[in-house]
Amino acid sequence: MKTLKLPKSQLDFFASVLQQFGEVHAPVETPGGFAFRPLERWSDARLDYNRTVLPPKKYFLPPRERLFNFSPARGYTVAAEGLDKKIVLFGVHACDIYAFNILDQVFGGAYPDPYYRTRRRNIAVIGIDCTPDEYCFCRSMRADFVDRGFDLFFHDIGEHYLTFVGSALGDDMVLATGSLFEEVTPADVNEYKVRSSEKHEAYQLHVEIRDLPEIFEMEYTSDIWEELGQRCLGCGACVMVCPTCYCYDVRDTAEPGSTTGSRVRTWDACLFPSHAAVAGGENFREDRASRVKFRFYHKQRGFVAEYGRPSCVGCGRCMEACPVKIDIVDVLHRLRRVAHAATC
Ligand code: SF4
Ligand code: SF4
Repeated sequence: MKTLKLPKSQLDFFASVLQQFGEVHAPVETPGGFAFRPLERWSDARLDYNRTVLPPKKYFLPPRERLFNFSPARGYTVAAEGLDKKIVLFGVHACDIYAFNILDQVFGGAYPDPYYRTRRRNIAVIGIDCTPDEYCFCRSMRADFVDRGFDLFFHDIGEHYLTFVGSALGDDMVLATGSLFEEVTPADVNEYKVRSSEKHEAYQLHVEIRDLPEIFEMEYTSDIWEELGQRCLGCGACVMVCPTCYCYDVRDTAEPGSTTGSRVRTWDACLFPSHAAVAGGENFREDRASRVKFRFYHKQRGFVAEYGRPSCVGCGRCMEACPVKIDIVDVLHRLRRVAHAATC
């Protein structure tokens, strides 16, 4: 991968150059927390943010999206609102880019999703490194570093950003600035290594994931699930803020008496009672404990079987958002303790 450096003093100018590649969006501070928004002024960008409330996944899989319109006269017509809009997402953390790479597997697999994939093509991603706080465990989930899924990635090395160029588009962005980017020196690489090592030391949360599938196999009937079911409110906040949750509901909407309308998909949550309800009145996960358990098993067990790794990237959003403080790291530690106590 090509590596260059950008003087921090030139960041404003670089951001102005980016406008030729699309509308620039970046994290800004809002009354409800940090959020990715279109920038009115570059000075609004908060590149020192810890995490946004909603993950940048919202750009590729919007919370509510019209898929197509239907009418007896015209049949089906694809609704393409915003699909072709060029956007540059500036300041995405490694864990959220890792989440894009996970979603790419889901939406690009056996049944490719044209809406997701079109947005992914039209939205450029510029990553930036971050400082772990009390909720971050992305290093444990191997999502603290990404080597793909972005166009450029910036690492703070003091007066400069060490910049990984991750795509041909990223290369074009560099070229569009003229000679703004500079060659990297051995001293820059050394500074990068020192800062990376300091970041590794800063993590307060650690989880061993190597044997999680085995632990989940052993603890399917653990009392922990019942206890979590008693505490969980079923609000779905953990799912709504998760960068890798991708379940959605699809509904047809039409005015009463009309035969024209549209099909809309909205984010859904496996913590909602309706999620596993089917025609005929059957509900495969009727009680809350089974729904909490399902979420854990899907992320930490089922996804490993299907794609070779958990679908959690350790962003910490679910722990911060949960009103009853259900803490994924604590649950994983408790399951491990129970599994190992039983085998001693
Ligand atoms: S499960 Fe929680 S920590 Fe893991 S990716 Fe989702 S929101 Fe982040
Ligand atoms: S955020 Fe907490 S209370 Fe709400 S559904 Fe998730 S685990 Fe349950």
